[in-house]
Amino acid sequence: MTDLVERVKTHQQFIGGEWVDSASGKTLDVENPANGQVIASVPASDTEDVDRAAKAAAKAFETWQKTTPAERMTALLKLADAIDANAEELAKLESAHAGKPINVAAVDIPVVADNLRFFAGAARNLEGKAANEYIADRTSIVRREPVGVVASIAPWNYPLMMAGWKIGPALAAGNTVVLKPSARTPLTAIKLGELAADILPAGVLNVITGTGDAIGPALVAHPKVGMISLTGDTDTGKKIAKVAADAVKRLHLELGGKAPVIVFDDADLDLVAETLRFAGYWNSGQDCTAATRVIAGPKVYDAFVSKLTDQVKEMKWGDPSTGDELEMGSLISKSQVDRVAGMVDRAKEEGGVEVTTGGSRPSLGASYYQPTVVTGPDQKSEIVQDEVFGPVVTVQRFSDEDQAIDWANDVRFGLAASVWTSDIGRAMRVAKAIQFGTVWINDHFTLASEMPHGGFKESGYGKDQSMYAIEDYTIVKHVMLRI
Ligand code: NAD
Repeated sequence: MTDLVERVKTHQQFIGGEWVDSASGKTLDVENPANGQVIASVPASDTEDVDRAAKAAAKAFETWQKTTPAERMTALLKLADAIDANAEELAKLESAHAGKPINVAAVDIPVVADNLRFFAGAARNLEGKAANEYIADRTSIVRREPVGVVASIAPWNYPLMMAGWKIGPALAAGNTVVLKPSARTPLTAIKLGELAADILPAGVLNVITGTGDAIGPALVAHPKVGMISLTGDTDTGKKIAKVAADAVKRLHLELGGKAPVIVFDDADLDLVAETLRFAGYWNSGQDCTAATRVIAGPKVYDAFVSKLTDQVKEMKWGDPSTGDELEMGSLISKSQVDRVAGMVDRAKEEGGVEVTTGGSRPSLGASYYQPTVVTGPDQKSEIVQDEVFGPVVTVQRFSDEDQAIDWANDVRFGLAASVWTSDIGRAMRVAKAIQFGTVWINDHFTLASEMPHGGFKESGYGKDQSMYAIEDYTIVKHVMLRI
Protein backbone atom coordinates (compact mmCIF):
# COMPACT_ATOMS: atom_id res chain seq x y z
CA MET A 1 0.00 0.00 0.00
CA THR A 2 2.86 2.37 0.74
CA ASP A 3 3.95 2.25 -2.90
CA LEU A 4 0.54 3.10 -4.17
CA VAL A 5 0.01 5.95 -1.75
CA GLU A 6 3.41 7.35 -2.67
CA ARG A 7 2.59 7.11 -6.35
CA VAL A 8 -0.78 8.73 -5.84
CA LYS A 9 1.10 11.51 -4.07
CA THR A 10 2.76 12.20 -7.42
CA HIS A 11 -0.67 13.49 -8.44
CA GLN A 12 -1.51 11.17 -11.26
CA GLN A 13 -4.68 9.99 -12.85
CA PHE A 14 -5.28 7.61 -15.77
CA ILE A 15 -6.20 9.17 -19.12
CA GLY A 16 -5.72 7.59 -22.55
CA GLY A 17 -3.53 4.86 -21.10
CA GLU A 18 -1.13 7.32 -19.45
CA TRP A 19 -0.59 8.44 -15.88
CA VAL A 20 -0.89 12.21 -15.84
CA ASP A 21 -1.17 15.12 -13.43
CA SER A 22 -4.20 17.36 -13.46
CA ALA A 23 -3.95 20.05 -16.13
CA SER A 24 -3.73 22.73 -13.44
CA GLY A 25 -1.24 20.76 -11.33
CA LYS A 26 -3.58 21.15 -8.37
CA THR A 27 -4.21 18.28 -5.98
CA LEU A 28 -6.75 17.13 -3.41
CA ASP A 29 -5.95 15.48 -0.09
CA VAL A 30 -7.49 12.11 0.71
CA GLU A 31 -8.14 11.45 4.39
CA ASN A 32 -8.62 8.33 6.41
CA PRO A 33 -11.89 9.17 8.15
CA ALA A 34 -11.17 6.73 10.97
CA ASN A 35 -8.29 8.87 12.26
CA GLY A 36 -8.35 12.11 10.24
CA GLN A 37 -4.89 11.51 8.75
CA VAL A 38 -4.11 12.54 5.18
CA ILE A 39 -3.13 9.32 3.43
CA ALA A 40 -2.71 10.47 -0.18
CA SER A 41 -3.27 13.31 -2.57
CA VAL A 42 -4.80 12.98 -6.01
CA PRO A 43 -5.19 15.30 -8.99
CA ALA A 44 -7.80 18.02 -8.56
CA SER A 45 -9.16 17.90 -12.07
CA ASP A 46 -10.98 20.64 -13.88
CA THR A 47 -12.79 20.93 -17.18
CA GLU A 48 -9.57 20.57 -19.17
CA ASP A 49 -8.94 17.14 -17.64
CA VAL A 50 -12.54 16.16 -18.37
CA ASP A 51 -12.04 17.16 -21.99
CA ARG A 52 -8.85 15.09 -22.27
CA ALA A 53 -10.49 12.03 -20.72
CA ALA A 54 -13.68 12.25 -22.78
CA LYS A 55 -11.68 12.66 -26.00
CA ALA A 56 -9.40 9.74 -25.08
CA ALA A 57 -12.44 7.55 -24.42
CA ALA A 58 -14.06 8.64 -27.69
CA LYS A 59 -10.91 7.78 -29.63
CA ALA A 60 -10.68 4.37 -27.98
CA PHE A 61 -14.35 3.72 -28.76
CA GLU A 62 -13.54 3.71 -32.47
CA THR A 63 -11.71 0.40 -32.06
CA TRP A 64 -13.20 -1.04 -28.83
CA GLN A 65 -16.69 -1.10 -30.35
CA LYS A 66 -15.32 -3.31 -33.13
CA THR A 67 -13.93 -5.97 -30.77
CA THR A 68 -15.82 -9.24 -30.65
CA PRO A 69 -17.81 -10.20 -27.57
CA ALA A 70 -15.26 -12.96 -27.00
CA GLU A 71 -12.41 -10.43 -26.92
CA ARG A 72 -14.28 -8.26 -24.43
CA MET A 73 -15.05 -11.32 -22.33
CA THR A 74 -11.37 -12.25 -22.23
CA ALA A 75 -10.39 -8.76 -21.10
CA LEU A 76 -13.02 -8.66 -18.35
CA LEU A 77 -12.02 -12.11 -17.11
CA LYS A 78 -8.38 -10.97 -16.91
CA LEU A 79 -9.44 -7.87 -15.00
CA ALA A 80 -11.44 -10.02 -12.57
CA ASP A 81 -8.38 -12.24 -12.05
CA ALA A 82 -6.21 -9.17 -11.45
CA ILE A 83 -8.68 -7.96 -8.83
CA ASP A 84 -8.57 -11.31 -7.07
CA ALA A 85 -4.76 -11.31 -7.21
CA ASN A 86 -4.66 -7.83 -5.63
CA ALA A 87 -7.52 -8.39 -3.19
CA GLU A 88 -5.48 -7.71 -0.08
CA GLU A 89 -4.12 -4.40 -1.30
CA LEU A 90 -7.52 -3.32 -2.60
CA ALA A 91 -9.14 -4.13 0.75
CA LYS A 92 -6.45 -2.14 2.60
CA LEU A 93 -6.99 0.88 0.36
CA GLU A 94 -10.77 0.62 0.68
CA SER A 95 -10.46 0.42 4.44
CA ALA A 96 -8.08 3.38 4.57
CA HIS A 97 -10.09 5.90 2.56
CA ALA A 98 -13.59 4.80 3.69
CA GLY A 99 -13.04 4.03 7.40
CA LYS A 100 -14.20 0.43 7.03
CA PRO A 101 -12.77 -2.40 9.13
CA ILE A 102 -10.43 -4.40 6.93
CA ASN A 103 -12.56 -7.54 7.25
CA VAL A 104 -15.61 -5.54 6.09
CA ALA A 105 -13.73 -4.01 3.15
CA ALA A 106 -12.39 -7.43 2.17
CA VAL A 107 -15.91 -8.78 1.59
CA ASP A 108 -16.44 -6.48 -1.40
CA ILE A 109 -13.43 -7.52 -3.45
CA PRO A 110 -14.54 -11.01 -4.58
CA VAL A 111 -18.00 -9.57 -5.23
CA VAL A 112 -16.47 -7.10 -7.70
CA ALA A 113 -14.54 -9.89 -9.42
CA ASP A 114 -17.66 -12.08 -9.61
CA ASN A 115 -19.64 -9.22 -11.11
CA LEU A 116 -17.01 -8.64 -13.81
CA ARG A 117 -17.04 -12.36 -14.62
CA PHE A 118 -20.82 -12.26 -14.97
CA PHE A 119 -20.55 -9.39 -17.47
CA ALA A 120 -17.72 -11.17 -19.29
CA GLY A 121 -20.25 -13.93 -20.02
CA ALA A 122 -23.05 -11.44 -20.66
CA ALA A 123 -21.01 -9.85 -23.46
CA ARG A 124 -21.64 -13.02 -25.49
CA ASN A 125 -25.29 -13.44 -24.59
CA LEU A 126 -27.17 -10.37 -25.74
CA GLU A 127 -30.70 -11.27 -26.79
CA GLY A 128 -33.46 -9.69 -28.82
CA LYS A 129 -36.38 -10.32 -31.11
CA ALA A 130 -35.90 -12.91 -33.87
CA ALA A 131 -35.04 -11.58 -37.34
CA ASN A 132 -38.08 -12.14 -39.53
CA GLU A 133 -40.29 -10.81 -42.34
CA TYR A 134 -42.76 -8.90 -40.19
CA ILE A 135 -43.80 -7.03 -43.35
CA ALA A 136 -43.91 -8.93 -46.63
CA ASP A 137 -40.65 -8.81 -48.58
CA ARG A 138 -38.80 -7.00 -45.82
CA THR A 139 -36.44 -8.68 -43.38
CA SER A 140 -36.15 -6.97 -39.99
CA ILE A 141 -33.09 -7.36 -37.80
CA VAL A 142 -32.55 -5.98 -34.32
CA ARG A 143 -29.06 -4.88 -33.37
CA ARG A 144 -27.93 -3.91 -29.88
CA GLU A 145 -25.18 -1.33 -30.18
CA PRO A 146 -23.00 0.35 -27.56
CA VAL A 147 -23.87 3.93 -26.67
CA GLY A 148 -20.31 5.29 -26.94
CA VAL A 149 -18.51 7.03 -24.07
CA VAL A 150 -20.07 6.41 -20.67
CA ALA A 151 -19.36 8.73 -17.74
CA SER A 152 -19.43 6.43 -14.70
CA ILE A 153 -19.80 8.47 -11.52
CA ALA A 154 -19.35 6.53 -8.29
CA PRO A 155 -20.13 7.28 -4.61
CA TRP A 156 -17.98 6.91 -1.50
CA ASN A 157 -19.86 4.18 0.34
CA TYR A 158 -18.70 1.19 -1.75
CA PRO A 159 -16.06 2.87 -3.93
CA LEU A 160 -14.66 -0.17 -5.74
CA MET A 161 -17.85 -2.22 -5.85
CA MET A 162 -19.85 0.63 -7.39
CA ALA A 163 -17.06 1.31 -9.89
CA GLY A 164 -17.04 -2.40 -10.78
CA TRP A 165 -20.83 -2.53 -11.17
CA LYS A 166 -20.56 0.33 -13.64
CA ILE A 167 -17.60 -0.61 -15.78
CA GLY A 168 -18.58 -4.30 -16.18
CA PRO A 169 -21.78 -3.89 -18.23
CA ALA A 170 -20.50 -0.73 -19.97
CA LEU A 171 -17.30 -2.35 -21.27
CA ALA A 172 -18.98 -5.70 -22.00
CA ALA A 173 -21.44 -3.93 -24.30
CA GLY A 174 -18.58 -2.25 -26.20
CA ASN A 175 -18.63 1.21 -24.62
CA THR A 176 -15.61 3.05 -23.29
CA VAL A 177 -15.62 4.66 -19.86
CA VAL A 178 -14.54 7.76 -17.98
CA LEU A 179 -14.75 6.69 -14.34
CA LYS A 180 -15.05 9.43 -11.73
CA PRO A 181 -14.80 8.14 -8.17
CA SER A 182 -15.90 10.25 -5.21
CA ALA A 183 -13.22 12.77 -4.22
CA ARG A 184 -13.27 11.22 -0.73
CA THR A 185 -12.52 7.70 -1.93
CA PRO A 186 -10.51 7.68 -5.17
CA LEU A 187 -7.74 5.21 -4.24
CA THR A 188 -9.32 1.92 -5.30
CA ALA A 189 -10.50 3.43 -8.61
CA ILE A 190 -6.92 4.53 -9.28
CA LYS A 191 -5.75 1.01 -8.46
CA LEU A 192 -8.41 -0.34 -10.82
CA GLY A 193 -6.93 1.85 -13.55
CA GLU A 194 -3.51 0.46 -12.75
CA LEU A 195 -4.78 -3.13 -13.06
CA ALA A 196 -6.64 -2.33 -16.28
CA ALA A 197 -3.60 -0.63 -17.83
CA ASP A 198 -2.05 -3.97 -18.77
CA ILE A 199 -5.32 -5.51 -19.92
CA LEU A 200 -7.45 -2.93 -21.74
CA PRO A 201 -6.35 -0.87 -24.76
CA ALA A 202 -5.44 2.76 -24.02
CA GLY A 203 -8.47 4.98 -23.41
CA VAL A 204 -11.01 2.18 -22.93
CA LEU A 205 -11.04 2.87 -19.18
CA ASN A 206 -10.03 6.33 -17.93
CA VAL A 207 -10.03 7.33 -14.28
CA ILE A 208 -10.19 11.01 -13.39
CA THR A 209 -10.26 12.44 -9.89
CA GLY A 210 -11.80 15.63 -8.60
CA THR A 211 -14.81 16.97 -6.78
CA GLY A 212 -18.32 16.61 -8.11
CA ASP A 213 -18.71 20.38 -8.28
CA ALA A 214 -15.47 20.92 -10.21
CA ILE A 215 -15.79 18.22 -12.85
CA GLY A 216 -19.25 16.64 -12.58
CA PRO A 217 -21.25 19.12 -14.68
CA ALA A 218 -18.52 19.34 -17.37
CA LEU A 219 -18.32 15.56 -17.59
CA VAL A 220 -22.09 15.19 -17.90
CA ALA A 221 -22.33 17.94 -20.52
CA HIS A 222 -19.28 16.92 -22.57
CA PRO A 223 -20.33 16.39 -26.20
CA LYS A 224 -18.29 13.17 -26.47
CA VAL A 225 -20.13 11.60 -23.51
CA GLY A 226 -23.22 9.71 -24.65
CA MET A 227 -24.45 8.27 -21.36
CA ILE A 228 -24.11 9.05 -17.68
CA SER A 229 -24.29 6.39 -15.03
CA LEU A 230 -24.48 7.74 -11.49
CA THR A 231 -24.68 5.99 -8.17
CA GLY A 232 -25.21 8.68 -5.62
CA ASP A 233 -27.59 10.95 -3.81
CA THR A 234 -31.05 11.62 -5.26
CA ASP A 235 -30.35 15.37 -5.38
CA THR A 236 -27.18 14.72 -7.40
CA GLY A 237 -29.22 12.54 -9.75
CA LYS A 238 -31.71 15.35 -10.28
CA LYS A 239 -28.89 17.83 -11.01
CA ILE A 240 -27.32 15.46 -13.52
CA ALA A 241 -30.66 14.73 -15.18
CA LYS A 242 -31.18 18.47 -15.72
CA VAL A 243 -27.76 18.92 -17.36
CA ALA A 244 -28.18 15.74 -19.42
CA ALA A 245 -31.62 16.82 -20.60
CA ASP A 246 -30.13 19.57 -22.78
CA ALA A 247 -28.53 17.01 -25.09
CA VAL A 248 -31.10 14.25 -24.37
CA LYS A 249 -28.36 11.98 -23.04
CA ARG A 250 -28.99 8.52 -21.73
CA LEU A 251 -29.08 8.19 -17.96
CA HIS A 252 -28.66 5.35 -15.52
CA LEU A 253 -29.41 6.55 -11.99
CA GLU A 254 -28.95 4.48 -8.84
CA LEU A 255 -29.93 6.88 -6.09
CA GLY A 256 -31.00 6.94 -2.46
CA GLY A 257 -33.00 4.40 -0.52
CA LYS A 258 -35.05 4.01 2.67
CA ALA A 259 -35.69 0.30 2.95
CA PRO A 260 -38.68 -0.82 5.01
CA VAL A 261 -38.48 -4.09 6.94
CA ILE A 262 -42.04 -5.34 7.46
CA VAL A 263 -42.14 -7.79 10.37
CA PHE A 264 -45.46 -9.61 10.71
CA ASP A 265 -46.62 -11.23 13.94
CA ASP A 266 -45.76 -14.70 12.59
CA ALA A 267 -42.14 -13.81 11.71
CA ASP A 268 -39.09 -15.54 13.16
CA LEU A 269 -38.05 -12.64 15.41
CA ASP A 270 -34.62 -14.02 16.26
CA LEU A 271 -33.80 -14.34 12.57
CA VAL A 272 -34.96 -10.79 11.86
CA ALA A 273 -32.95 -9.33 14.75
CA GLU A 274 -29.81 -11.30 13.81
CA THR A 275 -30.15 -10.27 10.16
CA LEU A 276 -30.65 -6.61 11.03
CA ARG A 277 -27.55 -6.54 13.23
CA PHE A 278 -25.81 -7.01 9.92
CA ALA A 279 -28.17 -5.48 7.34
CA GLY A 280 -28.94 -2.33 9.35
CA TYR A 281 -25.38 -1.51 10.41
CA TRP A 282 -23.08 -2.97 7.75
CA ASN A 283 -20.78 -0.24 6.40
CA SER A 284 -21.98 1.91 9.33
CA GLY A 285 -25.45 1.93 7.79
CA GLN A 286 -24.11 3.91 4.83
CA ASP A 287 -25.87 1.69 2.36
CA CYS A 288 -28.72 2.51 0.00
CA THR A 289 -30.40 -0.83 0.75
CA ALA A 290 -29.74 -0.74 4.53
CA ALA A 291 -32.54 -2.23 6.63
CA THR A 292 -33.21 1.16 8.08
CA ARG A 293 -36.88 1.31 9.12
CA VAL A 294 -38.66 -1.59 10.72
CA ILE A 295 -42.45 -1.70 10.63
CA ALA A 296 -43.39 -4.34 13.20
CA GLY A 297 -46.69 -6.09 13.93
CA PRO A 298 -48.72 -5.15 17.02
CA LYS A 299 -48.20 -8.43 18.88
CA VAL A 300 -44.44 -8.74 18.33
CA TYR A 301 -43.37 -5.09 18.47
CA ASP A 302 -42.18 -5.12 22.10
CA ALA A 303 -40.42 -8.47 21.84
CA PHE A 304 -38.76 -7.45 18.60
CA VAL A 305 -37.50 -4.12 19.97
CA SER A 306 -35.95 -5.99 22.87
CA LYS A 307 -34.27 -8.59 20.63
CA LEU A 308 -32.93 -5.98 18.18
CA THR A 309 -31.64 -3.80 21.02
CA ASP A 310 -29.83 -6.79 22.55
CA GLN A 311 -28.23 -7.64 19.20
CA VAL A 312 -27.06 -4.06 18.60
CA LYS A 313 -25.65 -3.72 22.12
CA GLU A 314 -23.47 -6.76 21.43
CA MET A 315 -21.96 -5.35 18.22
CA LYS A 316 -18.18 -5.08 18.00
CA TRP A 317 -17.27 -1.73 16.52
CA GLY A 318 -14.48 0.82 16.75
CA ASP A 319 -11.26 2.04 15.17
CA PRO A 320 -10.38 -0.18 12.17
CA SER A 321 -6.66 0.21 12.90
CA THR A 322 -7.01 -1.90 16.06
CA GLY A 323 -6.79 -4.90 13.74
CA ASP A 324 -9.71 -6.59 15.51
CA GLU A 325 -12.45 -8.28 13.52
CA LEU A 326 -15.02 -5.51 13.76
CA GLU A 327 -18.59 -5.31 12.56
CA MET A 328 -18.42 -1.54 12.11
CA GLY A 329 -15.80 1.20 11.80
CA SER A 330 -16.15 4.95 11.37
CA LEU A 331 -18.51 6.83 9.11
CA ILE A 332 -17.14 8.59 6.04
CA SER A 333 -16.66 12.00 7.70
CA LYS A 334 -17.47 14.28 10.59
CA SER A 335 -20.08 16.01 8.42
CA GLN A 336 -21.84 12.67 7.89
CA VAL A 337 -21.87 12.14 11.66
CA ASP A 338 -23.31 15.66 12.06
CA ARG A 339 -26.11 14.69 9.68
CA VAL A 340 -26.85 11.42 11.52
CA ALA A 341 -26.65 12.98 15.00
CA GLY A 342 -28.86 15.88 13.89
CA MET A 343 -31.56 13.51 12.68
CA VAL A 344 -31.51 11.44 15.88
CA ASP A 345 -31.52 14.59 18.05
CA ARG A 346 -34.44 16.10 16.16
CA ALA A 347 -36.36 12.81 16.47
CA LYS A 348 -35.82 12.93 20.24
CA GLU A 349 -36.98 16.56 20.38
CA GLU A 350 -40.18 15.69 18.51
CA GLY A 351 -41.08 13.43 21.41
CA GLY A 352 -42.78 10.05 21.48
CA VAL A 353 -39.58 8.21 20.61
CA GLU A 354 -37.22 6.15 22.71
CA VAL A 355 -33.56 5.52 21.96
CA THR A 356 -33.14 1.96 23.25
CA THR A 357 -29.41 1.86 22.54
CA GLY A 358 -26.80 4.28 21.15
CA GLY A 359 -27.90 7.77 20.16
CA SER A 360 -24.60 9.57 20.87
CA ARG A 361 -21.19 10.37 19.49
CA PRO A 362 -18.53 8.26 21.20
CA SER A 363 -15.24 9.76 22.36
CA LEU A 364 -13.40 7.64 19.77
CA GLY A 365 -13.22 10.39 17.13
CA ALA A 366 -15.20 12.89 15.10
CA SER A 367 -16.25 10.40 12.42
CA TYR A 368 -17.84 7.84 14.72
CA TYR A 369 -21.43 7.33 15.85
CA GLN A 370 -22.87 4.65 18.09
CA PRO A 371 -25.03 1.94 16.54
CA THR A 372 -28.48 3.15 17.44
CA VAL A 373 -32.09 1.96 17.68
CA VAL A 374 -34.88 4.57 17.73
CA THR A 375 -38.40 3.31 18.48
CA GLY A 376 -41.78 4.92 17.99
CA PRO A 377 -41.14 7.71 15.45
CA ASP A 378 -44.08 9.15 13.56
CA GLN A 379 -44.51 8.06 9.93
CA LYS A 380 -44.22 11.67 8.78
CA SER A 381 -41.09 12.41 10.84
CA GLU A 382 -37.80 13.23 9.14
CA ILE A 383 -36.07 10.13 10.52
CA VAL A 384 -38.65 7.89 8.82
CA GLN A 385 -38.91 9.84 5.58
CA ASP A 386 -35.27 10.75 4.78
CA GLU A 387 -32.08 8.78 4.30
CA VAL A 388 -30.09 8.80 7.57
CA PHE A 389 -27.17 6.98 5.91
CA GLY A 390 -25.71 6.06 9.27
CA PRO A 391 -25.93 3.30 11.90
CA VAL A 392 -29.52 4.03 12.93
CA VAL A 393 -32.55 1.73 12.66
CA THR A 394 -36.05 2.94 13.53
CA VAL A 395 -38.91 0.70 14.66
CA GLN A 396 -42.61 1.57 14.25
CA ARG A 397 -45.67 -0.43 15.32
CA PHE A 398 -48.31 -1.05 12.64
CA SER A 399 -51.90 -2.08 13.31
CA ASP A 400 -52.73 -4.22 10.27
CA GLU A 401 -51.42 -5.36 6.87
CA ASP A 402 -52.91 -2.40 4.99
CA GLN A 403 -51.18 0.07 7.27
CA ALA A 404 -47.88 -1.82 6.95
CA ILE A 405 -48.11 -1.55 3.15
CA ASP A 406 -49.13 2.13 3.30
CA TRP A 407 -46.24 3.03 5.56
CA ALA A 408 -43.75 1.01 3.53
CA ASN A 409 -44.76 2.89 0.36
CA ASP A 410 -45.12 6.28 2.01
CA VAL A 411 -41.58 7.55 1.25
CA ARG A 412 -40.14 9.08 -1.90
CA PHE A 413 -37.63 6.24 -2.33
CA GLY A 414 -38.18 2.74 -3.74
CA LEU A 415 -34.93 0.81 -3.85
CA ALA A 416 -35.23 -2.22 -1.56
CA ALA A 417 -37.51 -3.73 1.08
CA SER A 418 -38.01 -6.90 3.08
CA VAL A 419 -41.07 -8.81 4.28
CA TRP A 420 -40.85 -11.22 7.21
CA THR A 421 -43.65 -13.76 7.69
CA SER A 422 -44.27 -17.51 7.66
CA ASP A 423 -47.44 -17.05 5.57
CA ILE A 424 -46.45 -17.55 1.91
CA GLY A 425 -49.62 -16.00 0.55
CA ARG A 426 -49.11 -12.86 2.60
CA ALA A 427 -45.45 -12.67 1.61
CA MET A 428 -46.35 -12.72 -2.09
CA ARG A 429 -49.29 -10.34 -1.65
CA VAL A 430 -47.17 -7.77 0.15
CA ALA A 431 -44.20 -8.20 -2.20
CA LYS A 432 -46.54 -7.28 -5.05
CA ALA A 433 -48.08 -4.31 -3.24
CA ILE A 434 -44.89 -2.51 -2.24
CA GLN A 435 -43.07 -0.26 -4.69
CA PHE A 436 -39.42 -1.26 -4.39
CA GLY A 437 -36.93 -2.58 -6.95
CA THR A 438 -35.84 -5.48 -4.72
CA VAL A 439 -38.09 -7.27 -2.22
CA TRP A 440 -36.55 -9.89 0.03
CA ILE A 441 -38.77 -12.38 1.84
CA ASN A 442 -37.36 -13.54 5.17
CA ASP A 443 -34.01 -12.04 4.24
CA HIS A 444 -32.41 -8.65 3.66
CA PHE A 445 -29.29 -7.52 1.80
CA THR A 446 -28.35 -10.63 -0.21
CA LEU A 447 -27.35 -9.80 -3.79
CA ALA A 448 -26.62 -11.94 -6.85
CA SER A 449 -24.77 -10.78 -9.98
CA GLU A 450 -27.47 -12.48 -12.11
CA MET A 451 -30.31 -10.49 -10.53
CA PRO A 452 -31.18 -6.81 -11.17
CA HIS A 453 -30.61 -4.07 -8.61
CA GLY A 454 -32.25 -0.70 -9.09
CA GLY A 455 -34.99 1.55 -7.90
CA PHE A 456 -38.55 2.74 -8.26
CA LYS A 457 -39.59 6.36 -7.67
CA GLU A 458 -36.81 8.74 -6.54
CA SER A 459 -34.37 5.85 -6.12
CA GLY A 460 -33.76 6.21 -9.85
CA TYR A 461 -34.01 4.14 -13.00
CA GLY A 462 -31.90 1.61 -14.84
CA LYS A 463 -30.59 -1.61 -13.34
CA ASP A 464 -27.19 -2.63 -12.05
CA GLN A 465 -26.12 -6.29 -12.22
CA SER A 466 -27.93 -8.88 -14.41
CA MET A 467 -28.67 -8.93 -18.14
CA TYR A 468 -30.93 -5.91 -17.62
CA ALA A 469 -27.82 -3.83 -16.87
CA ILE A 470 -25.98 -4.71 -20.07
CA GLU A 471 -29.16 -3.89 -21.99
CA ASP A 472 -29.20 -0.47 -20.32
CA TYR A 473 -25.74 0.19 -21.77
CA THR A 474 -26.85 -0.57 -25.34
CA ILE A 475 -29.13 1.08 -27.90
CA VAL A 476 -31.57 -1.03 -29.89
CA LYS A 477 -31.42 -0.46 -33.63
CA HIS A 478 -33.91 -1.84 -36.15
CA VAL A 479 -32.43 -2.63 -39.56
CA MET A 480 -35.01 -3.38 -42.28
CA LEU A 481 -33.95 -4.89 -45.57
CA ARG A 482 -36.06 -5.07 -48.75
CA ILE A 483 -35.64 -8.59 -50.11
P1 NAD B 1 -23.11 12.02 -3.99
O1 NAD B 1 -24.33 12.18 -4.83
O2 NAD B 1 -22.72 13.13 -3.11
O3 NAD B 1 -21.84 11.73 -4.92
C1 NAD B 1 -21.86 10.68 -5.86
C2 NAD B 1 -20.90 11.02 -6.98
O4 NAD B 1 -21.45 12.11 -7.74
C3 NAD B 1 -19.52 11.49 -6.52
O5 NAD B 1 -18.53 10.97 -7.38
C4 NAD B 1 -19.62 12.99 -6.67
O6 NAD B 1 -18.38 13.62 -6.83
C5 NAD B 1 -20.47 13.12 -7.92
N1 NAD B 1 -21.16 14.39 -8.09
C6 NAD B 1 -21.56 15.26 -7.14
N2 NAD B 1 -22.16 16.32 -7.71
C7 NAD B 1 -22.15 16.11 -9.05
C8 NAD B 1 -22.64 16.85 -10.17
N3 NAD B 1 -23.26 18.01 -10.03
N4 NAD B 1 -22.46 16.33 -11.41
C9 NAD B 1 -21.84 15.14 -11.58
N5 NAD B 1 -21.35 14.41 -10.54
C10 NAD B 1 -21.51 14.89 -9.30
O7 NAD B 1 -23.34 10.65 -3.21
P2 NAD B 1 -22.40 10.05 -2.07
O8 NAD B 1 -22.63 10.90 -0.88
O9 NAD B 1 -21.03 9.83 -2.61
O10 NAD B 1 -23.05 8.60 -1.85
C11 NAD B 1 -24.11 8.38 -1.03
C12 NAD B 1 -25.41 8.33 -1.81
O11 NAD B 1 -25.34 7.30 -2.80
C13 NAD B 1 -26.60 7.96 -0.96
O12 NAD B 1 -27.71 8.76 -1.27
C14 NAD B 1 -26.87 6.51 -1.33
O13 NAD B 1 -28.19 6.08 -1.09
C15 NAD B 1 -26.51 6.50 -2.76
N6 NAD B 1 -26.21 5.14 -3.22
C16 NAD B 1 -27.11 4.50 -4.03
C17 NAD B 1 -26.89 3.20 -4.45
C18 NAD B 1 -27.87 2.49 -5.34
O14 NAD B 1 -27.54 1.42 -5.84
N7 NAD B 1 -29.05 3.05 -5.57
C19 NAD B 1 -25.72 2.55 -4.06
C20 NAD B 1 -24.82 3.21 -3.23
C21 NAD B 1 -25.08 4.53 -2.83
